[in-house]
Order: sequence, then C-alpha cells, then structure tokens
Amino acid sequence: MNFGETLRTHPILSEEEVQAVRSEVEKLVQHPAVGRIVHFVGEDPEREYAPVCRAAIITEVGAPLGDEECVALAVLNRTGMSFELGCAHDEDSKVRDTWHWPERV
Ligand SMILES: [Zn+2]
Repeated sequence: MNFGETLRTHPILSEEEVQAVRSEVEKLVQHPAVGRIVHFVGEDPEREYAPVCRAAIITEVGAPLGDEECVALAVLNRTGMSFELGCAHDEDSKVRDTWHWPERV
C-alpha cells in the first residue's frame, strides 16, 4: 500500500481543518514581544470607516495592568503612523482597536 498516495486521496483532515488546527497551535506557541509585527484593526476613512488591518509593531507588552496580551503599538497607516496604547488581543472576531497575528495567505 502506498501510504502517501492514500493520504493524498483520502485525507484524514480537510484543508480547512488543517488550517484551523495550525491556527490554534500558532496561537498557543506565539507570544507578543517588543518588535514583533502584528495587525491592528483600524478603520478606512475612504470606505466609510470600515474595519481594516494595518501593519503594526509592538512597542510595549503588558501595559496596562500586566496583561501580557495587552500591547502598545506603532501602527503603519497608509499615509502616516499612529500610536495605540492598551490594545487587547482579539484573534477571533477582530473588532476595531484590537490586534491579532497576521493572517496566513
Ligand atoms: Zn489582519
């Protein structure tokens, strides 16, 4: 039996399931640290202020209140930078003014 061929033709997990597991594992093994690049959910003034992901660099971790998932960010907007304090981590619903790890594409 060709095991590799069997896996290809009868996968144990679907592509979506593999992505979901990978995403969960990454959340468990990644920790915010100064200098890491993340996404900040801002708003796009040219699209009726719809939520939009902006690249951001973590400038401080654990502020305020020592919550290690709460960070300060230098946000790279299209036409300039902004600085955000006390950003909460939101990997699931990605609401405005929160941060998350960049999506895999
Ligand atoms: Zn994003």
